[in-house]
Amino acid sequence: MRLIVTTTDSIEGCRIVEYIDVLRSSVVVGNDIALGDLFGGNRNYNNRLNDIYEKAMQGLRLKASIAGADAVVGLHTDFEEIFGKGKTRMVVSMVGTAVKLDCQPKCLPEDKKNASVSMDTLHRQYLLVSMRKKLDNSDYSLNEDDWGNILKYSLTDLAPLLYNRYLVVSTQTISNIPLSERKLLQDNFIPFIQSMDFDEAVDVVYSDLETAPECSSVIIRDCNLFAPSKIVGMLEAEHKHIIISLLKSDKPIYTAEDLAGMERIVEFLDNLPDTGYYIEGRGGVFSKTGTLLVCERGHKSAVELGGHCTELLEGSGAVCNLNVKGITEAEVAAIASFKEKVEVLRAILNRGL
Ligand SMILES: [Zn+2]
Repeated sequence: MRLIVTTTDSIEGCRIVEYIDVLRSSVVVGNDIALGDLFGGNRNYNNRLNDIYEKAMQGLRLKASIAGADAVVGLHTDFEEIFGKGKTRMVVSMVGTAVKLDCQPKCLPEDKKNASVSMDTLHRQYLLVSMRKKLDNSDYSLNEDDWGNILKYSLTDLAPLLYNRYLVVSTQTISNIPLSERKLLQDNFIPFIQSMDFDEAVDVVYSDLETAPECSSVIIRDCNLFAPSKIVGMLEAEHKHIIISLLKSDKPIYTAEDLAGMERIVEFLDNLPDTGYYIEGRGGVFSKTGTLLVCERGHKSAVELGGHCTELLEGSGAVCNLNVKGITEAEVAAIASFKEKVEVLRAILNRGL
């Protein structure tokens, strides 16, 4: 039976017996659309839009069928233009609710005998299944053709598996992933994530910030995936370094809800617990008696109140640099500029009200 997709909330003659999930499908058309095409003059533009629409629809149908749905109701489609870095991108997003139906047979638009599937849908589905198998096998190396397919068919369902590989590659200097595959991952993973719908990409990247925090925060920064709601969910002192590392990242559009989340993050940062303490004593043989900072690593250094530990780290020769809250000067600066950003955002959003 062909999956029913409709903008209405119900289907004539059928009863919705289960709401499975809200599904989203987006297609990003990148750098190949010139500004001139967008503002008239190109007859192909409408055709292109139709193609993109069809592709998004295919994606939605595929997700719905994977979810075991009989229909998608309440379909909503958005066309959006994103400008940035000198490029114009066109995003078509579809959102709908996948449901299971209990229907009178006559209501079904097509009999099972007449079920049909487009060549592209079949091919995409085939690729998804075979790529999943390949990715489940840690000995398999993704090659250029694989990546070509992943990008061409927007196989975003593979994003969690690819993210996992990316993190493995980034954290292990020696791993069973060969150099050629590492290079392909490094070249293709970020553009792949950038091509995804914001919420989908956020779910993937924030699902694991602990394996390789630096790597994840670079992805979040490069792909503008700053997600206050996700960060608010992890406001614990033990996560402070990763949280601070995310403060420099951005998101395409800021809402009042984001601002509220960012204010909570500021409040959290203002109330970080002390990890070190101060004592009165002598910092060194020649220093006067005064305040000493005992940092969380146990170093003692003579600093001003609020100062940073000046002791050298064993082995690396770098300066410890932690203050009484256990954060470095760079982190203090990052927090300060985040606070400024929150204030500017607050001013803009309040003015708009
Ligand atoms: Zn120290």
